[in-house]
Amino acid sequence: MQLINASIITIGDELLIGQTIDTNSAFISQELNKIGIWVHHRLAVGDDWDEIWNALDEESRNSEIIILTGGLGPTADDITKPLLCKYFGGQLVLNEKVLEHIKYLFEKVYLRSGPLLESNKKQAEVPDTCTVIPNLRGTAPGMHFQKGGKSFFSLPGVPAEMKGLMTEEVLPWLKNHFELPAIVHKTFFTAGQGESFIADKIKDWEASLSPNIRLAYLPAYGMVKLRLTAKGENATDLENQMIPYVEKLKDLIKDYLVAEEDVPMEVVIGRILKSINKTLATAESCTGGYIAHLITSVSGSSQYYKGSIVSYANEVKETVLGVKRETLKTSGAVSEETVLQMISGVIVKLNVDYAIATSGIMGPDGGSKEKPVGTVWVAVGNKKKTVTKQFHFRFDRERNIQQTSMYALNMLRKFILADLQPNNL
Ligand code: AMP
Ligand code: MG
Repeated sequence: MQLINASIITIGDELLIGQTIDTNSAFISQELNKIGIWVHHRLAVGDDWDEIWNALDEESRNSEIIILTGGLGPTADDITKPLLCKYFGGQLVLNEKVLEHIKYLFEKVYLRSGPLLESNKKQAEVPDTCTVIPNLRGTAPGMHFQKGGKSFFSLPGVPAEMKGLMTEEVLPWLKNHFELPAIVHKTFFTAGQGESFIADKIKDWEASLSPNIRLAYLPAYGMVKLRLTAKGENATDLENQMIPYVEKLKDLIKDYLVAEEDVPMEVVIGRILKSINKTLATAESCTGGYIAHLITSVSGSSQYYKGSIVSYANEVKETVLGVKRETLKTSGAVSEETVLQMISGVIVKLNVDYAIATSGIMGPDGGSKEKPVGTVWVAVGNKKKTVTKQFHFRFDRERNIQQTSMYALNMLRKFILADLQPNNL
C-alpha cells in the first residue's frame, strides 16, 4: 500500500513573528496521523504572494494532499483566495449560498444592523475552479481544489473554524477518497537519565527495528519519552509485530521506565497514591509551590494531596516546619540536614503518609563557591524512612525549578514503589 503524504502550509505574518502560536498545524497533523496520512512537511509562510505560491509549487511536488490555513479574512493582508484563484486558473464568482450564510451570521448571530460591508460581501466570492467547503462557524468558506491528482484544501486561520471544517468535511472526504494505511504509536516515558544515555543503552535494539517501525526521542526536563511509530496495512498486525520489540525495550529501560504511555509525571504519581489510598504533602522552598501546582493540576488530586508549606523564608522553615535555627546557621538552608527536618516537619504538620521537601539555589543570584547556583537538596519519604539527594543543575531559574520538581516527583515515585515491595512492608 502506498503511503499518502500531506503537507501543511500555515499562512500569516503573525506566525512568523511569533505573535500567534501555530496550533493549527499541530491539530491537523494529529488528525491526519490518526487516519494514516503521513505529514511529511509543515511550513509557515508570511502573507506574501511569492512565498505562498512557491510553497504550493514545492509541496505539491511530493505530497498528495496540501492543506493551507489562514489568509482568508476580509482584510487586504489576506491574499490566499485571489492567489489560489490565479494558481488554479479561473475567476472569482459570487456564491449565493455562501452569501446567504454570511448575511445570516451578521443578522442573526452577530446581531449587526445595517447593510453588509463590501469587504464581507466579497467573502462570498470563490474561484470557479474550487468546490466550496461550507464554514458554519464563520464568514470565510473553505475551498477544495484538485489538480494533477493532488488535493488542495484552503481553510480559515481561526482555529475553531479550521477544526470544524477539518472534522466535518476534510477528514471524511480523505477517508473516502484514499485507501489509507494504519499507523500505530506507542510511547514509553522514562525519567532519571538523559537522552544520550538511553540511546546508548538501546542502540542494538534500535538497529534491529524493522524498517516500518521508527523510533523518536522526545527529551524534556529530566525525562525522555520514546515513541515507536509503526506503519502498515492493518493496525492489529502492527500491534502484533510490535510486541517483541516492546518487550525487549521495556526490559532494557526497566530501571527508568515510568509509564507505557504519554502521560505527565504528576498523573503517574496520582494514580499510584490513589491505588494505595495514601496521602502526600510537600514542603517547598526553592520550587515555591511548583510541585503543588503540578500535582493539583490533575483533577481529583484532593483525594491524595493535602497541601504544601511553601517555606521560602528561613523563618517559615523554623517556625512552621520546625527546622532548628542551629541547623540553618551551621549547615544552611540548602543542606541535607535542612530538607530532612523540613520533611519530618511537614509529615507531622499536615499528617500525611508521604512527603517531598526541596531546598536549593535557583539563580541567577544567590550562589557561592561552596553552593553554586543549581545546587539543590531534595528529600522524599514517610514517617519511617527518608531518602535525600543532592543535584547540581546548571540552567536558568525557570528550568531549574521545573527540573527540580520533575526529579523530586520521580524520587517520590521510586520511593513509594520500593516502599510497596513485600520485604519492605
Ligand atoms: P486569517 O484566516 O489569516 O485571517 O486568520 C485569522 C485568525 O486566526 C488570526 O487571528 C490568527 O491569529 C489565527 N490563526 C491564523 N493561523 C493560525 C495558526 N496556524 N494557528 C493558530 N491560529 C492561527
Ligand atoms: Mg491572516
